[in-house]
Amino acid sequence: MSDFDLAAICAHPDDAELVMGGTLARETARGRRVALVDLTRGEAGSRGTPEIRATEAQAAAAILGVIHRESLGLPDAGVIVDVASRDRVVEAVRRLRPRVVLLQHWEQRHPDHAAASRLVYDAAFVAGLRAYRPDLGPAFRPAKMIYALPTTEGADAAPSFVVDITETFDTKMRAIAAYASQFAPAPGEAAALPLDRFRENVELAARRHGQRIRVRYAEAFVTKEPLAVHDLLALGGSSF
Ligand SMILES: [Zn+2]
Repeated sequence: MSDFDLAAICAHPDDAELVMGGTLARETARGRRVALVDLTRGEAGSRGTPEIRATEAQAAAAILGVIHRESLGLPDAGVIVDVASRDRVVEAVRRLRPRVVLLQHWEQRHPDHAAASRLVYDAAFVAGLRAYRPDLGPAFRPAKMIYALPTTEGADAAPSFVVDITETFDTKMRAIAAYASQFAPAPGEAAALPLDRFRENVELAARRHGQRIRVRYAEAFVTKEPLAVHDLLALGGSSF
C-alpha cells in the first residue's frame, strides 16, 4: 500500500493513540488514508508480550479506522538516531508516500520519544534525496511534518494549532483501552496500572487543549514553520 494522506510515526505502539488518536479518527472518518508506523514493538515494557501488544495494536488501529499499521522492529528503549535506524524509516516513508507525517514532539521525558522525533524528521528529509540509497525506494518527501504535543511534559508549549476531538474522544479512549495488557498486573505485580487514573490524565490533557479553542476535547500540534493561510474568514477559534 502506498500514497497515504497521512502517516503517524511514533516510538511505541499506543504512543499515537495517546497524543493524536482523536485527530487520526477524525481524518479517517472523512475518508483519509492513514498509516500508523511504530518504530518498536514495545518489548521493553513490563506488561504484555510483543505478540499480545501487536494484536492489541492492530485492534487499536481498526478502532481508529486506520487501514495500515506496521512495526519497524527497532529496539525498544534503544531508539537512537543513527544511519541504520534512519534508513529503516526512509524505506517506510518512500514506500508509504504520506503527504503529511505526524510525529512526536522533540521535548520528551522518554528518550525513545525524543529520538523518534529526530529520527523521523531526518528520515523524511533524506527520503527526498534522489541519489541517496535508491535501493530503499524512489525518492519521496512528505509535504508537512506535524509534531503532537505530549500529554504531560511539554504539554504547555504553545501549539501551532489545536484540533477539536470532541466527536472522536470516545473512539480515542476505546483505542487506548484496546491495549488491555498494559492495564493488567505484570507477573509479580500486586496491582494493575490504574486505568482510571491513566484515563484521567489523557482526559485532562484533552480538556486543557480543548479549553484553548472552547470545545470539550482537543489535541494540540506544533509545526516548526508558520502555517500558510489562504482565507482569513476560514480561521477557526475565537479571540474573545
Ligand atoms: Zn512511548
